[in-house]
Amino acid sequence: MNLRCLSCQRTYPQDTYRWRCECGGVFELEGTPGFAQDKIKTDDISLWRYRAMLPVNYEEGIISLGEGLTPLVETQVYGTNIHCKLEFLAPTGSFKDRGTAVLINVLKRMGVKRVVEDSSGNAGASLAAYAARSGIEAEIYVPAYASPNKLAQIAVYGAKLVKVEGPRERASQAAQEAAAQGAYYASHYYNPFTLEGLKTIAYEIWEQLGGRAPDNLVLPVGHGTLLLGDYRGFNDLLSVGLIEKLPRLFAVQAEPCAPLYEAYQRELDDAFPIEKNETVAEGISIAQPVRGRQILAAVRETGGTVLAVSDEETLRARDELARRGLYVEPTSAVAIAALPQLRDLIKDEELTVVPLTGSGLKS
Ligand SMILES: [Zn+2]
Repeated sequence: MNLRCLSCQRTYPQDTYRWRCECGGVFELEGTPGFAQDKIKTDDISLWRYRAMLPVNYEEGIISLGEGLTPLVETQVYGTNIHCKLEFLAPTGSFKDRGTAVLINVLKRMGVKRVVEDSSGNAGASLAAYAARSGIEAEIYVPAYASPNKLAQIAVYGAKLVKVEGPRERASQAAQEAAAQGAYYASHYYNPFTLEGLKTIAYEIWEQLGGRAPDNLVLPVGHGTLLLGDYRGFNDLLSVGLIEKLPRLFAVQAEPCAPLYEAYQRELDDAFPIEKNETVAEGISIAQPVRGRQILAAVRETGGTVLAVSDEETLRARDELARRGLYVEPTSAVAIAALPQLRDLIKDEELTVVPLTGSGLKS
């Protein structure tokens, strides 16, 4: 397995401390095993049932908090039947644990002693927990405006918490400066191992639906790691003939910060940096997604679209979902808020999955 730059195609060994290519391009992991139905460890009730398909294929000593295998629950919101994938039941309360679990195992084997990361909350909490579990030291750079609950969660796991004033991007710069001093930059959006972990959500959906892909996936998108993980996972299933086509990917952004929506509207191949405004969907408040080109290509290839919803619609959708017993943070509710806009695109008989990404208890 190698890391390949998506811009210039240069390759690097998978144990490099580099977090992007010399040319500035982002990495993808190449040479991964792909999906093999007969290699699922059916007695393992976690995402490690797919270990033969992950870059962590060993039996003993896997670092885990029991992540993966989240329930798939049917409900109806705004007249649309959906299957909700309850990712907020993950060990730290968000879908990020899938990516972090795989990444931390890779890093432990590499002998990494110290990691840095920047996050608006969920990714930082996830890394802090798995760092604690593995004995790796973690330092998390967060925007000072992040939710106090999330900051408290990061701190209680024992990670060093560094609050950075100013926009989200300042926290990224601070983490990257710390990485230049010798720490491993465990960025959930630059690092290709996190996408490997996230692809398992597609495998699970396929198993839980009795060996089929949904027609549609509706997802909140900031840096787009969940969307790209799903895309990767369903592609693995497609390439071995276990599904006939990819689900349509519907990427939902928050109107106050919607660079991918802007780019999609203008029929561009990549997002351009935008002036963003505050939004209740803080987890996807990303002015310049580093994998924008990949996200837009995946959406177009699958026949999906990019949508944007207002904060008002998001909060109403959060409440609608809570009235059905499902309590998520506002960032997760943007996907539900987009359902009325999709009414003409999604037929009654179609199967639609919405991953519910983060717990309402965090917000
Ligand atoms: Zn490059």
